[in-house]
Amino acid sequence: MEEEENLWPKSKTIIRCTICKKKWFSVDINRDNEKAECTCGNLKLGILDMTPPTRAPEGFFVTIKYKEAYPELYEVHVDESGKIVKKGKALERNS
Ligand SMILES: [Zn+2]
Repeated sequence: MEEEENLWPKSKTIIRCTICKKKWFSVDINRDNEKAECTCGNLKLGILDMTPPTRAPEGFFVTIKYKEAYPELYEVHVDESGKIVKKGKALERNS
């Protein structure tokens, strides 16, 4: 049986619009807010359901659509209160 690790800070992925600077944690995109859109309209986030078997615990991917500028994706480390304590590495763009 696996134990949940409870070490802080934890690493999270940020999706950020390079035009209006709106940003989200990728883990905050879920079925409740799947139509997230940034202020300037460049980015639209959504979810894509997957058919089992899948490695994603929630059963969906976060999808990103953009009009003009590809979003910035990077890791951050957050403490227990959700505050960003350190900016991590930029993630590779897979396209
Ligand atoms: Zn934007």
